[in-house]
Amino acid sequence: MFSQFALHERLLKAVAEQNFTEPTPVQLAAIPPALEGRDLRVTAQTGSGKTAAFVLPMLNRLLGDGASHARVRIRVLILLPTRELAQQTLREVERFSQFTFLKSGLITGGEDFKVQGAMLRKVPDVLIGTPGRLIEHLNAGTLDLKEVEVLILDEADRMLDMGFVGDIEAIVARTPATRQTLLFSATLDGVVGRLAQ
Ligand code: AMP
Repeated sequence: MFSQFALHERLLKAVAEQNFTEPTPVQLAAIPPALEGRDLRVTAQTGSGKTAAFVLPMLNRLLGDGASHARVRIRVLILLPTRELAQQTLREVERFSQFTFLKSGLITGGEDFKVQGAMLRKVPDVLIGTPGRLIEHLNAGTLDLKEVEVLILDEADRMLDMGFVGDIEAIVARTPATRQTLLFSATLDGVVGRLAQ
């Protein structure tokens, strides 16, 4: 039962709408500590339900403090290795936030830079993207991550395999040290374990 989690009723309504009845093992393991604001390193495969395991707690945080509808800062950043994964994650975030006022945005390569800049000026609550294009926006001054509260790295091992380690470190350095960090990876061996550390 998802109602066992201390989730906002608008989120529980969205979960019910998707016909999720029982949480998956990764959701059972990750949602409670993520809701407490703890940093997590999670080993999880695609298909395990890992996306909901990080999306629900971060949306709950955004809803929890009576935030106004005026969007003034990016509060959550989700990094993924590919455009397709970023698009899929955006769809999942939109499904779970459908009964809220929260807005999400997508920044990936292969899209118009100026159109992305215009989207960033409207300041989404949640930004989802791939490292390369996010770095370009940081360098262009069109992206400000100084008030990010939650940083999520999904498929971290794949991001490293694709050579994004320098970009990831540069992005992380532009977020506050006080943030909550959630790292999901198929493995935590080797380089990805060191990155997580
Ligand atoms: P993911 O591992 O996040 O890519 O999720 C794999 C698929 O499982 C997605 O299509 C989700 O919509 C679905 N899913 C995630 N959690 C649950 C759940 N608790 N019950 C049923 N389906 C789920």
